[in-house]
Amino acid sequence: MGKKAKSSRKKIYRRTPSGRVNIYFEKKSKKGKASCALCKSKLAGTKQAKNISKSEKRPSALLAGILCNKCRRVVIEEAIKVREGVKGLKNCDIREIKYIEQALKSF
Ligand SMILES: [Zn+2]
Repeated sequence: MGKKAKSSRKKIYRRTPSGRVNIYFEKKSKKGKASCALCKSKLAGTKQAKNISKSEKRPSALLAGILCNKCRRVVIEEAIKVREGVKGLKNCDIREIKYIEQALKSF
């Protein structure tokens, strides 16, 4: 591996039991198209290019860049129900709870 390829990676310092510090390089993950955390469909409005600003990489809407539009709507609706006391958080889809909590925080 060339020097340049390594330097672009994130360094991880790990102390070994003997007290020595080893430097690991984080494995480069292949970046695929961003996909929805619930239904795995492709996310609209996301880019993976390196040289663009953060706001260009994903929409700034709540939970955008994590969930697709369909799932996002469902989760936000559930979050509103929870907030209004119509529904308990325990009655929600176990996979959605994480995102519902996230949505609740931003209300
Ligand atoms: Zn989805």
